[in-house]
Amino acid sequence: MAETIFDKIINREIPADVVYEDDISLAFKDINPQAPVHLLIIPKQQIATINDIQDDQKELLGHLFTVARDLAKEMGFDETGYRVVMNCGEQAGQSVFHIHLHLLAGKPLGWPPYTDKMKQA
Ligand code: AMP
Repeated sequence: MAETIFDKIINREIPADVVYEDDISLAFKDINPQAPVHLLIIPKQQIATINDIQDDQKELLGHLFTVARDLAKEMGFDETGYRVVMNCGEQAGQSVFHIHLHLLAGKPLGWPPYTDKMKQA
């Protein structure tokens, strides 16, 4: 499986602002934040896209969500709200092919991603 920039972050070959780590996951600040708080939560095991998730990896996927939940609570966004997103494939905007949850918070966030203007284009 092709190595991505996230493997280099896991292996500490390139720097990242790591906010959480355990045996199976890592969370760090997105280099190009799209909200006042923008974290990425990744499994250490390389899985390219949602399409590549195996049935025996369900627990790992659930773990990423509990990490997101705990980080949001620690940062005080559990009540005000936050968004957790995983893009799958190019049309969804996935650019790094190592699955990751985006955790976005800190201000009211826009929705939907497919606007009326885009529908007319
Ligand atoms: P996606 O477009 O859903 O695949 O998200 C990939 C995310 O990874 C983008 O939000 C990028 O800004 C972020 N990213 C890419 N390289 C790095 C890096 N070296 N450190 C932190 N975040 C990164």
